[in-house]
Amino acid sequence: MAGHLNHVVIGASAAGLSAACAILKTTPRARVRVVSEEKDAPYFRPMIPFIISGKKGSSDVKMVGQGPYVQEGFELFTNTRVTRVDAGQKRVITDSGQIVSYDRLLIASGGKPYLPPEIEGVDVEGVYALRTLSQARAAAKRSSNVTHAVMLGGGLLNLKAAFSLLEKGLEVTLVVYSPEILSQLMEPEDAVMIRNALEQAGLKIMTGCSARKIVDGSKGVCSVVLDDNREIACEMVFIGKGVRPCVDFLGDSGIEIDSGVVVDRYTKSSMNDIFAAGDVAVTFDPITGERIVTGLWTNAAEMGTCAGKNMAGCPTAYSGTFGVMNATQVAGLPFVSMGVVHPGNNEHEIHKNISDTSYRKLVFSKDGNYLLGLVMIGDIKNAGLYRFIMREQRNIRFLKEKIIGQSLTSADVMYG
Ligand SMILES: Cc1cc2nc3c(=O)[nH]c(=O)nc-3n(C[C@H](O)[C@H](O)[C@H](O)COP(=O)(O)OP(=O)(O)OC[C@H]3O[C@@H](n4cnc5c(N)ncnc54)[C@H](O)[C@@H]3O)c2cc1C
Repeated sequence: MAGHLNHVVIGASAAGLSAACAILKTTPRARVRVVSEEKDAPYFRPMIPFIISGKKGSSDVKMVGQGPYVQEGFELFTNTRVTRVDAGQKRVITDSGQIVSYDRLLIASGGKPYLPPEIEGVDVEGVYALRTLSQARAAAKRSSNVTHAVMLGGGLLNLKAAFSLLEKGLEVTLVVYSPEILSQLMEPEDAVMIRNALEQAGLKIMTGCSARKIVDGSKGVCSVVLDDNREIACEMVFIGKGVRPCVDFLGDSGIEIDSGVVVDRYTKSSMNDIFAAGDVAVTFDPITGERIVTGLWTNAAEMGTCAGKNMAGCPTAYSGTFGVMNATQVAGLPFVSMGVVHPGNNEHEIHKNISDTSYRKLVFSKDGNYLLGLVMIGDIKNAGLYRFIMREQRNIRFLKEKIIGQSLTSADVMYG
């Protein structure tokens, strides 16, 4: 066990703090320093849309004292950005020129929003790509004084932000290039229930179009011009076009990068004593075996815990995660989508169950023996059990009727 080793963690969020706690739990006398470029103390990132709606204040989303991720024992340095990793000398350099040596390093720098270069005016005042608490506070402030917001992109983060703005009484227009919202997470017909709930809440949805320009007026953004030259007047714009791993400070580190930091099953990067976890890490899908980067709080926390144990000298394999994996709530509707959610016509066996209040699509392998994916909206009962079965790649031939009939129990899964 690496009891007295000196650990440095870059990033104080789901992955970084889970790792810090795991290191200290495994080796209580280890030194752990966590470095965060954000000024705010660690907080639950998925909750920041509630800052915009005003349902939560900054102190409500703070992690300190609220969850398993923060505890006494590690040193936290906020407002400190790592600008370089010197793997040869085993040290990191910060934006103030400070040199911090490590025995083991964790890169948990997460992701940053992608700003499409083809959209002109992404830096105009009043344009947001929501990722941090301070951005949410700024957006909350502006939204209190304006009437119309335009959201570019039909993904989950934009839908959550859109709903917060609707709750605040703004007129909100969603501009989506795909034929339907949430196209990465489900098929168009799966998304109907969520779309209806958002439209009932007042969201105006425009599909099959995209923005080419954000126009700057005298008080910041004043309109968005679409690719077909239609112009939508607005005073706020949210760009939700995906997230990319934060690896800009790793340029000359020698660490293998493939969009994110490539890690092995034990969360170790290509360099000795450097690990990575969370949205910055390239992990694998246990079903397809493909390399993937995910964007989910629970994955980041799970992978961070695993990395922490490995750093502390307790070898722990990470079991991967699905390329598509989301569990959240939009417009008051809980939903889960995971695994294979875009099944091929004759390559899978599909079962659907639709009622007024719920939608469920189960995707099985062609021979019917493996559960490979699902979309559940409204009623997400048993989603955790299904995730377990899928991750284990369990042959479910004898459980299938119970899965389809929604009567599966954890005892069936343990002993079935
Ligand atoms: C608005 C919103 C809603 C979301 N909703 C959900 C949801 O409902 N469910 C869900 O599961 N997930 C949700 N997510 C995604 C979830 O928040 C992320 O998957 C999770 O935060 C990833 O954790 P992480 O620790 O890998 O990275 P992050 O949370 O991105 O944290 C990385 C930290 O490292 C810092 N950092 C980066 N580079 C450096 C550097 N060079 N030096 C120092 N610090 C650095 C960053 O500033 C950041 O503070 C949401 C995200 C957003 C933005």
